[in-house]
Amino acid sequence: MANQTNIKIINQLGEGGKMRAKHFINGQWQNAASNETFSTINPANEQVLAHLPAGNKEDINAAVKAARHAFDHGPWSTLSGVERGQYLQKMADIINRRLEELTELEVLDNGKPYPEAKWDIEDTAGTFEFYAKLAAELDDNSEQIIALSEPGFSSRATKEPIGVAGAIIPWNFPMLMASWKVAPALAAGCTMVLKPSEVTSLTALALAEIAEEAGLPAGVLNIVTGLGAEAGQALVEHKDVDKLAFTGSVPTGSKIMAMAANDIKNVSLELGGKSPLVVFEDTDIEKAVEWIMFGIFWNQGQVCSATSRVLVAEAIYPQLLARLKIEAEKITIGAGDIKGVLLGPLVNATQFDKVQQAIAKGISEGATLVTGGKRPASFTKGYYLQPTILTDMAQDSWIWQEEIFGPVVCVKPFKTEAEAIAMANDSRFGLAAAVMSKDLTRCERVAKAFRAGIVWINCSQPTFVEAPWGGYKQSGIGRELGTWGLNNYLETKQITRYDSDEPWAWYIK
Ligand code: NAD
Repeated sequence: MANQTNIKIINQLGEGGKMRAKHFINGQWQNAASNETFSTINPANEQVLAHLPAGNKEDINAAVKAARHAFDHGPWSTLSGVERGQYLQKMADIINRRLEELTELEVLDNGKPYPEAKWDIEDTAGTFEFYAKLAAELDDNSEQIIALSEPGFSSRATKEPIGVAGAIIPWNFPMLMASWKVAPALAAGCTMVLKPSEVTSLTALALAEIAEEAGLPAGVLNIVTGLGAEAGQALVEHKDVDKLAFTGSVPTGSKIMAMAANDIKNVSLELGGKSPLVVFEDTDIEKAVEWIMFGIFWNQGQVCSATSRVLVAEAIYPQLLARLKIEAEKITIGAGDIKGVLLGPLVNATQFDKVQQAIAKGISEGATLVTGGKRPASFTKGYYLQPTILTDMAQDSWIWQEEIFGPVVCVKPFKTEAEAIAMANDSRFGLAAAVMSKDLTRCERVAKAFRAGIVWINCSQPTFVEAPWGGYKQSGIGRELGTWGLNNYLETKQITRYDSDEPWAWYIK
């Protein structure tokens, strides 16, 4: 990896410097039907990285048609799970082979520090590997015998792929979020149209190359780049899409759910959060500071499950806050490809402005700025923002209640366990929550009381492909990862047979 960010253009990107800035539809690389493009930038230096096809309804129609054909006429949906698993395993192997180059691509496009980008790509390969195994297991587990009370009948439930899935993903973990949808959908036997975020589409196009190299049949995975209101909306509204899997913000999720209601599409939503981390007085302060920092500053705080509300027992509040301030101010800020950098730039100008406006709003509401809040003076280019700590905000203040999606943590003291639980649950979100204490009985009690889909005890953020991921309340509907992620793409069919020679029709009874 270079010591400093290099300016790269699209025809220098990708394995062997051959990356294509085209849609991948029906196994073919295509320009946008309109020939229009949009640009994607490197947030570390604000330089244009690539011009990508601006997909619209016409491109989405072609992609859905290809996916529909590949599903309805096979061979994908009629292959055995073992066979589908072999393709997924091939994709995992290619991702592992291209690990360094994909990591570099993610750093350039998203801005995240190199080691974090490398985790993402390793986890992407791990996700394909995991669902390769689950695909194979479907061959034996896709049928369940049902015990009936009525004699003369036998019944069973089978699992079948839903059909054509449309996936829309955000920019914070670009390739990993793609894998959370593509791998289980293909494992289930669905075909897919993926619309990556217009902010970070490069590794999605690399995924198309990987699918091509793995020999995936034409139309099984189609990738269309473009804006949300154009390509995204066309995918959501398309009549031939059977399932929509969305990850992104609550307002977009809400719009998608409303549009999907028009033709009763199956929808799963992974949305935003404002997750609490509750630190009790018996917690080791150094450990707490470490997890608080990771919980809010990794990926520049652009993490749906970031523990952005920290509740600290009154007895240790002053010491903990002082230690947190010292450590936050030590964080090395810089381009993601510089060794030792822990905090890269925010993803783009929009996000940079949004986060700064949020901090200003918090301060105007009465919050105290403990540290941070600005672009470090040493940078004239790049969307860098200091790690920021705010305190003294009211429970019902905007800054305490709303997702900021940046390196900004709000800290508040609490008196009792009951108060901490009430404050933690007082949110329209319910994605994640964390608790720290040496008393594991207390941790378990608090974990049970949290109204959140993911709970961490004595840690914050570790995520495993085997475990369910998703939120309560406005943080979403459904679960990804593990077997839950596979079930997102499966329908259940009841098959009942009359086995007796005796007449049974109702008019004879
Ligand atoms: P966003 O909602 O702005 O965009 C997400 C995707 O939706 C993009 O691909 C965008 O092009 C598309 N889109 C936008 N408008 C659309 C429309 N009208 N129709 C169809 N598609 C449309 O979100 P973002 O800024 O990319 O991502 C940040 C958000 O994602 C945060 O709120 C974060 O919490 C959430 N997120 C959640 C999870 C999770 O697992 N729960 C994971 C990552 C990110």
